[in-house]
Amino acid sequence: MILSKNPYTGETLQEHKESTSEDIDKALEKATAVFREWKTTSFSFRSKLMLKASEELKKNKQEYAETITKEMGKPIKQAIAEVEKCAWVCEYYAENAEAQLAPETIETDAEKSYINYAPLGVIMAIMPWNYPFWQVFRFAAPALMAGNVGVLKHASNVMMCGKNIEKVFIRAGFPEGCFQNLTIGSKKVEEVVKDKRVKAVTLTGSEGAGGSVAATAGKEIKKSVLELGGSNALVVFDDANLEETVKTCVQARFQNTGQSCIAGKRLLLHNNIAEKFTEMFLKEVKELKAGDPIDEDTFIGVQAREDLAKDLEKQVNDSVEMGAKILTGGVRKKAFYAPTVLKDVTPEMPVFKEETFGPAIGITTFRSDEEAVKLINSTQFGLGVSLFTKSREKAQNLIPKIEDGAVFVNELVKSDPRLPFGGTKKSGYGRELSKFGIREFVNIQTVYFK
Ligand code: NAP
Repeated sequence: MILSKNPYTGETLQEHKESTSEDIDKALEKATAVFREWKTTSFSFRSKLMLKASEELKKNKQEYAETITKEMGKPIKQAIAEVEKCAWVCEYYAENAEAQLAPETIETDAEKSYINYAPLGVIMAIMPWNYPFWQVFRFAAPALMAGNVGVLKHASNVMMCGKNIEKVFIRAGFPEGCFQNLTIGSKKVEEVVKDKRVKAVTLTGSEGAGGSVAATAGKEIKKSVLELGGSNALVVFDDANLEETVKTCVQARFQNTGQSCIAGKRLLLHNNIAEKFTEMFLKEVKELKAGDPIDEDTFIGVQAREDLAKDLEKQVNDSVEMGAKILTGGVRKKAFYAPTVLKDVTPEMPVFKEETFGPAIGITTFRSDEEAVKLINSTQFGLGVSLFTKSREKAQNLIPKIEDGAVFVNELVKSDPRLPFGGTKKSGYGRELSKFGIREFVNIQTVYFK
């Protein structure tokens, strides 16, 4: 049995019977059959259905958001915003997929030569619990618009969300089998990835899960996309607008109770403003309202599982043993971990070099742009960086020195349906969203007429 549990109350919400190998076989058979039809449909046909999915999400956003909140503890306002963002990504690909996948003529010595973008077939998506709707729609909207079909293995603690997402597509009128939720734990993933009917796989999650799935896919010579962990730096230079930057940095670290791959996890402050900024930052953090995630005014909920809060507690305590000082927080009660700020953090400490997946942030100071760049690049991750400076020229000069997949200036790193999203180094490979994302799961076919 796979259990859905409310991390705030501890209550068991639902028990899910795990799909057997026979169930998986039936699902893949259905997916393969529907793909034969689906790939022949026009963009305008798919677009109409994708717009209906968007309407369905908007119409029943409260219902979907409550499932998110109950299952993984996300404060309800943030859960509603997540569902609304899913509606947007559906709309965006309904309107733009055709242009992003239009055949491209290339002048060669042929009479005519061009590139076709043809769908691959059944794509498996293995997804995490932290944005249990958004992560899935970010994959599904472009993939289905490209003419593929999807099977989802959602994180075990958010199976109700997985079932609801399948329901969105069914309610929107998609052919049955176009998008299916498999009720399986991670042990069954290998069997699905190896199945000949599955053509490619995308995984959003931890390094361990990514490495294991990519190894299986590699052996089978199947394409994989990996969206893994991050330890983004928030870099505040001494010419930044401090008031605005404090607010942005608090959002960047503490929204979704700190459980975001692209959260700003390391606060790098120029020595000249470090003291003032720390004081302003601490004041905001202490005012964050923690409480029952279902209450509208709660900003900090609980971690999605108690073991995650314990992991974070250990990273903070180990860093303190190595010399970091807690300025606020540092206490845990079951799955709740209080918003925590540490200073005197150095690159050897766990809160710097590892990913912290919860509401804790470490402060490190720097004296020059060169030192800032060194600190930014000195983790194994490469998802994104935020630079805070009034000087566009300074930012422009620093960008080529940064190894990450995204650089945001005076803004927190966020995923936007119109822009590519993805990392470098241990944060993974491949891209989601934009024309680059939609082209990950297509056959880029060369056509040549002599
Ligand atoms: P996780 O433990 O890696 O789980 C992610 C998914 O992979 C789940 O569906 C999980 O299933 C499955 N899984 C775990 N181990 C597996 C294995 N050995 N083989 C096959 N499947 C396996 O990650 P999480 O705790 O859910 O999510 C947090 C992580 O995701 C963080 O590192 C975060 O940074 C990363 N993340 C990255 C992005 C991005 O876009 N780059 C976005 C969000 C999150 P079970 O639940 O059944 O174990």
